[in-house]
Amino acid sequence: MGAVRVAVAGSTGSIGTQTIDVVAAEPHRYEITALGAGGGNLEAFIAQAETVRPKVVAIADPSADAELRRRLPACEVRVGPEALASLADEADVVVNGVVGFAGLPVTLATLHAGRRLALANKESLIAAGPVVQDARLTPGAELVPVDSEHCAVHQCLRANDHPGRVARIVLTASGGPFRGRSAASLADVTVDEALAHPTWSMGPKITIDSSTLINKGLEVIEAHELYGSPAGHHGVGVALDDIEVVVHPQSVVHSMVEFTDGATIAQLSMPDMRLPIAYALAFPDRGTTPFGRIDWAGLGRLDFEPPDLDTFPGLGLAYAAARTGGTAPAWLSAANEVAVDAFLAGRLRWADIAAVVAATLDQHDGNPATSLDVVLEADRTARATARALLDGSRAR
Ligand code: MG
Repeated sequence: MGAVRVAVAGSTGSIGTQTIDVVAAEPHRYEITALGAGGGNLEAFIAQAETVRPKVVAIADPSADAELRRRLPACEVRVGPEALASLADEADVVVNGVVGFAGLPVTLATLHAGRRLALANKESLIAAGPVVQDARLTPGAELVPVDSEHCAVHQCLRANDHPGRVARIVLTASGGPFRGRSAASLADVTVDEALAHPTWSMGPKITIDSSTLINKGLEVIEAHELYGSPAGHHGVGVALDDIEVVVHPQSVVHSMVEFTDGATIAQLSMPDMRLPIAYALAFPDRGTTPFGRIDWAGLGRLDFEPPDLDTFPGLGLAYAAARTGGTAPAWLSAANEVAVDAFLAGRLRWADIAAVVAATLDQHDGNPATSLDVVLEADRTARATARALLDGSRAR
């Protein structure tokens, strides 16, 4: 059997670079046939391609065309808005490590091509849930989550061989850099403070989302999309209210599934995203390089506590958006992307990220998410609403 062909979308980001590490650890087993990125970090991308030597390279920014052709003469060059999504044709597995809603075309193209999607881009699933669910019905299409919590649940559910026996999914949250702080003490935190995640090394967008707990709220919606539908339709029929969050500062228990007899199965490893990436590449087999092995004597203790919903309102906002359904999760995710960009650019206070998301959701038009066009329009409207709120608050 030949090597499994892997395409990496978002290759210069945190997930992308770690995917290249995973493949390098088992070079006989995997071959990277395609690399794709937005184009914001072109030098790093070209350096990657010179090392990895993929068949195809793709950059979303069309102005990169001439430079790529000149510097990577051995590669087929694709540029433009469809370039990343086109990589699905070149691989058995596509790792989607694109940041934010921009990852949606890669998610849909991979599933429509009947390939395995190793999904790190949670926003595409959250914003376009029903559209992605339809795409998952394509023969051969398979979604294996790379988000550490959902990968953990995926592993725990392998202990489940009867439908209707899952009682609860418990997602763990590190609590982020501001765990234990009061809302008042967080009024003037800086970007650097919010980027200082205690356990995980990740890209800036998800790190800010972890500091607000909005990341965990997005993951509740993601878990409901992945595991909420009944058995036979991808899921195990877990209700939204049976998806709970517990704060676990060591980030060693990555999530848990409780069964109807009271038994809980958990997946544990040291925080290292290379493990969920390797799992998604190897499933239903396992990787053979140990990432995140636990030294039990050195570990000492594992702690758990409830989330502080007053200081971190983002988690409650996500549950509310999930209950509303339709395009409300798309609005939540879009407003959050706008607010996080503004915070990273120094134009919004940290405490106002959740406020902008809440105020945007207050204006949600109640539309259902019936098609891709509707979802794209919802994303545009929610972004415009959030930007208008930002401009209004600056004008005051
Ligand atoms: Mg996660």
